[in-house]
Amino acid sequence: MMVVACVDPRVDPAHVLGLDNGEAAILRNVGGRITPATLRTMALLSKVGAANTATHRPGDWNLMILHHTDCGMNDLASFPDALADYFEIAPSELERKHVTDPRRSVRTDVDVILENLHGPAFFVSGLIYDVDTGQIETIVPPTPLTLGEASTR
Ligand SMILES: [Zn+2]
Repeated sequence: MMVVACVDPRVDPAHVLGLDNGEAAILRNVGGRITPATLRTMALLSKVGAANTATHRPGDWNLMILHHTDCGMNDLASFPDALADYFEIAPSELERKHVTDPRRSVRTDVDVILENLHGPAFFVSGLIYDVDTGQIETIVPPTPLTLGEASTR
């Protein structure tokens, strides 16, 4: 399992998802966003897995994208140039990243994964953690990546 989540201390994925040590690879960045940098990190990680056959276990991969309410990304909306740099897009395209609406942002990032990654046994889901209630809401249930060009080797 891999989790992409925000750096916000209130949203520690191990804690809010009840994960044990060794259960998931966790990537954290501002907002838990799927940026080009996130995709590059994931691509590099897939090579680590492929190279290290001793610990690489075949089987389904689950990727969970975990966004949350009251995210600091809301405050960053006042800094469109910095945000545009973060997403490596033009400031005029920022609106489609939905930085102030976690329900839409998590859907947006699931779509980024579906557009960019292909593999036969890979699921992606989108979740929201409510920092007030401690509840997790599934916005996008586990969705299989389409069988791409079998580029996973
Ligand atoms: Zn956050």
